[in-house]
Amino acid sequence: MPSLNTLLLVLQAATLPAFKQEVVRDVASRAQFTQQMVDQIFSYAELGFQETETSRYLVDLLRKNGFTVHEGIAGIPTAWVATWGSGKPVISLGSDIDDIPQASQKPGVACHAPLIEGAPGHGEGHNSGQAVNITAALAVKKIMEREHLPGTLQIWPGVAEELVGTKAYFVREGLFRDVDIVLFSHVDDNLATSWGDIAGNGLVSVLFSFQGRSAHAAGAPWRGRSALDAVELMDIGWNFRREHLRLQQRSHYVIPNGGDQPNVVPPTASVWYYLRELDYPHIQEMFALADTIAHGAAMMTSTTLLPDRILGSAWPGHFNRVIAEAMYENIKQVGLPQWSEADQRLAHALQRDIGAPDSGLATRLDTLRPALKPNERMGGGSDDIGDVSWNVPTVTLRFPSNIPGLPGHNWANAISMATPIAHKGATAGAKVMAMTVLDLLMRPEFITRAWDYFRNVQTKDITYQPLIRAQDRPAIELNRDVMAKFRPQMRQFYYNPAKYRTYLEQLGITYPTERSADGSCGSGATP
Ligand SMILES: [Zn+2]
Repeated sequence: MPSLNTLLLVLQAATLPAFKQEVVRDVASRAQFTQQMVDQIFSYAELGFQETETSRYLVDLLRKNGFTVHEGIAGIPTAWVATWGSGKPVISLGSDIDDIPQASQKPGVACHAPLIEGAPGHGEGHNSGQAVNITAALAVKKIMEREHLPGTLQIWPGVAEELVGTKAYFVREGLFRDVDIVLFSHVDDNLATSWGDIAGNGLVSVLFSFQGRSAHAAGAPWRGRSALDAVELMDIGWNFRREHLRLQQRSHYVIPNGGDQPNVVPPTASVWYYLRELDYPHIQEMFALADTIAHGAAMMTSTTLLPDRILGSAWPGHFNRVIAEAMYENIKQVGLPQWSEADQRLAHALQRDIGAPDSGLATRLDTLRPALKPNERMGGGSDDIGDVSWNVPTVTLRFPSNIPGLPGHNWANAISMATPIAHKGATAGAKVMAMTVLDLLMRPEFITRAWDYFRNVQTKDITYQPLIRAQDRPAIELNRDVMAKFRPQMRQFYYNPAKYRTYLEQLGITYPTERSADGSCGSGATP
């Protein structure tokens, strides 16, 4: 005879489709709430580790909606974790909140028109994911309260994702210790998910610093030892060696400290590398090689290589098959948003302006991409959700708030992010997210099977070891100066939802605005 528990589960499973319909309707009815979140965070436009306005806004909003919030987690001032509910399962919803240097852009304008010249902007679209998660969580919470469904909802921000700066620390802090499933959301140009290894890379982000000796660069250059010489020789060494690295690697650097002025031999200089590879052993191999080359550069210049500093890290992600398949069923039910003629006009105009394929917005759903075979992985970008994915069964929901064919990490990627395209895309994402949370709350076998995949397939031969070392600390000082420089100017553009229905309305932008006949850009937008 079936136990009472089994009978309850059967009963629950029978009500699941009706509850799913209910959350879809509920999320749709919250469209304005979702739009306000998307627009508000777009207007804050904060760089990694400096997301103070964004976090304050989200923390207030979650507290107002009954969540308990702990701030400053893992020693990161802008990181927090919000929880609501009690008991198992614990479903954790995450999404990034930081933006891109020099990507300031007027939304809805299909060519390069910065709101503030040189300022940061949401040129990755990280202003939209929390709106997806929070809208979904509130719709599910309403049903959980009414039906007395057990379970805990956890919400957290990907702080400084563009620096791959925090998620390994969240793991180290134990943020996911009691979590059953992590659902992550990330902006894209389609409604999609996938499972297995990501196409891209993991990475370690390292600052190499050299100590030399200053001297008058003209009066007594023989008395100086240039730390900048060491940086340049390290870069030359790396660029030659690059030819003999695996094709899957990606590596790039910037020189955050190249000296002060030409007549002073630079006594200190630093170079910041992203070293990307497909897996942990290859990432560590690259790190060791970079360290060898740095030592060589120090020897050539009679300077000293100072202790390196890890500024960020990411495991290559691996996403859970069971949860991805369940999520994809919901994606098929929700489908892509209905784009208006104006939405499509913006997309086409931008694509033509930057020379991308003139495809317009997505009108056909992506398929559920099956796991990539090892020889299909050719490297690419990274996301520190990878670290989470090796500790808890995780999937990423990608939602259609952006325009296809854009370069990424660029002003062009900010254009749609406070327009109806982003708003509709976030609403579609929130519907799928809410339905998937319901699946997990009401069909415990999904969680059992997800952990079975995690333990017996994903981590069968691979054990997670963090790329951050015991002595490493989050690089919370990054971007402080840039934000301090631009924030006073940016403040005048913060969105005021009490006064304006949308951010476009506040900025006085005609939607969409295309390049003028005389070739100028953004004349329709005069904030
Ligand atoms: Zn991102």
